[in-house]
Amino acid sequence: MTDKTRPRSVPDNSDGRTKAVRAGSVWSDLQEHAELLAVSSSYAFNSAEEAARTFSGEREGYVYSRYTNPSVRSFEQRLAALEGADCCVATSSGMSALLLLALAVLKPGDRVVSSAEVFGTTHAMLGSYLPQRLGIECEFVPLTQPQRWEKALASGARLALLETPSNPLLKQADLAEIAALCRSQGTELVVDNTLPTPVQLQPFALGADWVWHSATKWLDGQGRCVGGALLGRAEYESDLREAMRVCGLSMSPFNAWVFLKGMETLHLRVEQASRTARQLAVWLQQQPQVEAVFYPGLESDPQRELAAKQMDGCGSIVSFCVRGGQQQAWRCMDATQLFSITPNLGDSRSTLTHPATTTHRGLSDADKEAQGIGPNLVRLAVGLEAPSDLRADLQRGLSALEHQS
Ligand SMILES: *Cc1c(COP(=O)(O)O)cnc(C)c1O
Repeated sequence: MTDKTRPRSVPDNSDGRTKAVRAGSVWSDLQEHAELLAVSSSYAFNSAEEAARTFSGEREGYVYSRYTNPSVRSFEQRLAALEGADCCVATSSGMSALLLLALAVLKPGDRVVSSAEVFGTTHAMLGSYLPQRLGIECEFVPLTQPQRWEKALASGARLALLETPSNPLLKQADLAEIAALCRSQGTELVVDNTLPTPVQLQPFALGADWVWHSATKWLDGQGRCVGGALLGRAEYESDLREAMRVCGLSMSPFNAWVFLKGMETLHLRVEQASRTARQLAVWLQQQPQVEAVFYPGLESDPQRELAAKQMDGCGSIVSFCVRGGQQQAWRCMDATQLFSITPNLGDSRSTLTHPATTTHRGLSDADKEAQGIGPNLVRLAVGLEAPSDLRADLQRGLSALEHQS
């Protein structure tokens, strides 16, 4: 910002809703009222001396968009404000945020403990790529069993990683409890906050050391751009920036600009979708064709008190089992008209997935059974359509089961 511009800063103690709209923006001296899209691969200097001082880090300034760009910086600062983090580095995808963490923090021989119920590609990175390519060992433990975490952490681990609530079955970890276990063993806790978003879960306040995101989901919110972010303490900032400079896992400025727009409506979208999800979950429980419903906001959910304690709302994923097997689950999905059949989530358009044959098809039959991913399980990722239309569409799907046999 130059002194020509009226300062537009957001008080630190502002509500998340205010930060989502106003925090973090990098302004030019053109007096724009909305962030400009900074499409420039490199930045020019006023003199050779200024270039030298910028390269040496003595002067702050943009150099090259592989590691510094004003649109990307605006995104980073806004997300850092929402998560309550000192440092945020934007990446080309959610997966590259996890890779950045591995490249910046882990060494061959390090151990990682992770919940088994993580996003499928996270499982693949921790279970195969990092062990086979970088010599990192990973042990998976059940999300909801603190004794198993305690035992796994006792052997020493550089990082522990989890995602709560889990997808698709919405199991939860007690974040404060796992964070305390990690702290007692000197292990840093990493939380994937993609699903709950900072609107509904604040992992740093509950003791996490790192948070990462797939911005592709709720931060975008309209299913358009792929991106991610890694957030942590200020002491790691220079290591992370260095890893970005060397490895180039960079977010595109255009995507950063789309995510900035997305974050302005994050609270409205997440809150609306969660309200609809809860209504649909309650309604599904009353349907004769439905055997079980998974949603942390249901009276019947065994972990509803934990959800009430650590989350502000219960999210927009609802899963349910139809009576019968895979054929009935598929028939129900195929008979809907409005829901898209796609695994995306955090989109304004509601989606339906059959986890056992898509997102979780890579699990062995034993792992599917252990995690409860049965052939009759269907997952909803609720978006922004009218609740009544979504309910009518599910009714269409379930009615198709009555007319069979
Ligand atoms: C989608 C997703 C990821 C991976 O993010 P990409 O942007 O697709 O690389 C990681 N974690 C969760 C929970 C996700 O939903």
